[in-house]
Amino acid sequence: MVQLSTKNTALVLYGVLLVLPTIVLGGLHWRQLAQDHRSRLAAVPGDAGDAGRRLSDAIQRRVLELIEREERRPFYVYKRTYFPPGMIGAELALVPSPLATGPTPEGCRAWFQFATSDSEITPPAQPPAVLEILGGEHEGLDAWAEERADLVRTVAELAERDRTEVWLMRAVRVRSLRLEPLTLSVAAINTSPEKDFACLRDELPALRGLQGRYVDAQVTGMHVRFFFDAEGTPRVVASRMVIIPPNESLRDLPACFDNLGSGVTLIQGFFIDPQWLFHDLPAGLARQVLDVAQEFVPFGASETSDLDQVIVSHPIHQFVFETRGGDEAEYGTFRVAVNTRDLELRFRSQMLHFLGVAAMLVISLTTGMVLLLRSVHRDLESAKRTENFVAAVTHELRTPLASIRLYGEMLQDGWVDSVEKREEYYRRIVRETGRLETLVERVLEKSQLTSNEVRPELGDLSQHVDSVRPSLCHTAVGKIVEDVRFELDTDLPDVFLIPDAVRSIVTNLVENARKYAPVPIGVPEAEPIGVVTRIYQNHVVLEVKDRGPGIPREEKHRIFDAFYRVGTESTRTAKGTGLGLHLVALQALAMQARVQVLDRKGGGTIFRVTFRRGDRAAEDTPPEHA
Ligand code: ADP
Repeated sequence: MVQLSTKNTALVLYGVLLVLPTIVLGGLHWRQLAQDHRSRLAAVPGDAGDAGRRLSDAIQRRVLELIEREERRPFYVYKRTYFPPGMIGAELALVPSPLATGPTPEGCRAWFQFATSDSEITPPAQPPAVLEILGGEHEGLDAWAEERADLVRTVAELAERDRTEVWLMRAVRVRSLRLEPLTLSVAAINTSPEKDFACLRDELPALRGLQGRYVDAQVTGMHVRFFFDAEGTPRVVASRMVIIPPNESLRDLPACFDNLGSGVTLIQGFFIDPQWLFHDLPAGLARQVLDVAQEFVPFGASETSDLDQVIVSHPIHQFVFETRGGDEAEYGTFRVAVNTRDLELRFRSQMLHFLGVAAMLVISLTTGMVLLLRSVHRDLESAKRTENFVAAVTHELRTPLASIRLYGEMLQDGWVDSVEKREEYYRRIVRETGRLETLVERVLEKSQLTSNEVRPELGDLSQHVDSVRPSLCHTAVGKIVEDVRFELDTDLPDVFLIPDAVRSIVTNLVENARKYAPVPIGVPEAEPIGVVTRIYQNHVVLEVKDRGPGIPREEKHRIFDAFYRVGTESTRTAKGTGLGLHLVALQALAMQARVQVLDRKGGGTIFRVTFRRGDRAAEDTPPEHA
């Protein structure tokens, strides 16, 4: 009962202090992991939406930068050669336009300019009469001639639309006008439709006289439109209008410059490269703006099934490009996809990690519990043995003490008349005193053996065993007892031994045999107790064998424990303390010898002590105790 409740208490404490907190903490951690994963998944669309917006904003900023830079260009550089502001010298000095020679800003394909007027009726889809297409550094490319022809056609389309669809009016409204004051000569030379350089040069003197006069050119902001041209090619065109209003006082200028008086309207602008705008630029910015789990899906890319495409961005809507609706407005749409598979994989690996740790904890807790139970069991056993010992020692002390006291009192009170009886009582007193002595000696011996360390030395085993013979074979009164037979090999190699320990072992084992396997008296064929020294399987051994009842198999491993006795107080007949074999085991240990208990063929027990040989000390494995 005590054992059971102690074990239960240990288990409950273990459960409350270790297992329960582990399970609770583990459960909380597991719940936290699952919650985190759910909230990460829930945040995906929002995060991707933000990322998509950031990307769109970044694209828009770059496009605006390009447009604003182009807006700052003076309108008169939209001619292959132009007349820069400054004083007119003797000669007409025209300089090549940067738009014709490059460099071309990123995203810009080419510049264009044409003159228009409300009165002018250009046949539909025909290039305007005065048209400039400037390709910057692209003009050096092989494909330029072809591209230029395409652009000329597109500009013709644009000119046609401007007239019929009133886009220009809208453009004026959308982006405010800016005034560009110019000297009259710069305005006149740069707006002259005259291609004939000689005409300009010849009529230059007429302008010199007007050098102090200025005109205001009205320049609108760039207006961007997206459309598919007649051939279905996507076009992004930024255009502005330059207006020099009619001026009556300039009507009488030479013919080369006379359009300045009647007013000039120029449409100029540039082509934005759709490949750059809808592919290269977003892809490049996506690398900076999106995080690793987010992926840029460009316009026209096929949908990938394993990604959640969460946000769709319409740059044309966002940038407020002019379109005619329909397909045009949807062009360039891109997506931001989120790779939730990575999140799932991360979650799974976290779970596996958690399960690994949990499995390790389960193993450690189980091991801990087993060790705890074993240790509790061992402690309880040891407590039980100590209890047994106290009971046995008390019993062992009481019996001889009671006898001594009884015989002593009888002798003292003179109750014993006959001399023989008196002698008999004296003998009994001496015998009981001897029993007391043995008990005390064993208890002392045990405590000495556990506290003292005597080193074994090399010696002849048979010689030391033989030295015990007289004390074992003679009783106190000198009578020879013949229940023990010695068979000692006198040719044994030296072994590591402690002489006192050898003698004590032999005495203990022989006394045990006498106690538990006594040789029947008066039976001539009865086999005496054997004390043998010999070589067995190359080892030097000491054996004490008897023909007694033997030791039950399940008890064999315990009989060497301190205070352990086979059976219970009620079933035991022989008196003892449970210390004899324990002392044998301790002494064997001190000599680095191994003690075993074996069943004997034909009945009985063999106690075998295997010693370490001196001649093969290095090879001998350290003996264990059985
Ligand atoms: P004790 O003799 O004081 O009881 P021991 O340690 O000497 O204690 O022996 C332990 C137990 O081993 C004994 O209780 C006994 O039952 C058993 N035992 C020892 N020697 C023999 C033997 N030769 N034959 C049978 N049983 C034995």
